[in-house]
Amino acid sequence: MASINNRMLMGCDEQLLRELDSGVLLHGDVIKPFQTMCDTAARDGLNITVASGYRSFARQLAIWNDKVRGVRPVLNDSGHPLDLATLADHDKVMAILRWSALPGCSRHHWGTDIDVWDAAAVASDYRLQLVPGEYAGTGPFSRLSEWLQEHAAGFGFIRPYAIDRGGVAPEPWHLSYLPVARLFEEKLDTAFLYKVLDNDRLELRDAVLANLDTIMARFVLPGMT
Ligand SMILES: [Zn+2]
Repeated sequence: MASINNRMLMGCDEQLLRELDSGVLLHGDVIKPFQTMCDTAARDGLNITVASGYRSFARQLAIWNDKVRGVRPVLNDSGHPLDLATLADHDKVMAILRWSALPGCSRHHWGTDIDVWDAAAVASDYRLQLVPGEYAGTGPFSRLSEWLQEHAAGFGFIRPYAIDRGGVAPEPWHLSYLPVARLFEEKLDTAFLYKVLDNDRLELRDAVLANLDTIMARFVLPGMT
């Protein structure tokens, strides 16, 4: 396979990706271990299903801009919609980053990270929310979460956002295939990221660029292994 370049790090180059099943792309070296893990989980009655695999820079940029423009809701820590208009630009950026990655900074750009749920635990018309309550206590996916806690590492997968470190909100559904993700982590380049984000298509660009080192320290680097 080709070596990792800056454009791959930022979800702008798809040559390392392969199709897992309709619509889901993953890094080619992640597909087999992921399928092996799913097959093993199936023997324990779990139907591990992908909510999100690879996501491009363009897609993450659209999500970001929708949040800034109020097209998509921005939530507070209790999961209630926030009124962004009442916040200064710096605070808008920090509020969005709690739940959404900055374009160029999502681990989903690498094809190594996967959001999963358990289709065997819910009715076929279940509306997935991807909130922590679904993965804990009496939530439908708490058994999946326990299974992953016990077995995922044996297949090379970790959960980088399983606990709240004050940056990215807890994401027990987010898996990362460490043997490949680590190769991307090693190449993170803030100077290149700055250049890509210095782009007039990015909403709140000035506030993002002025705080890029803080953003990296609080929201990006804590997810690194
Ligand atoms: Zn995720």
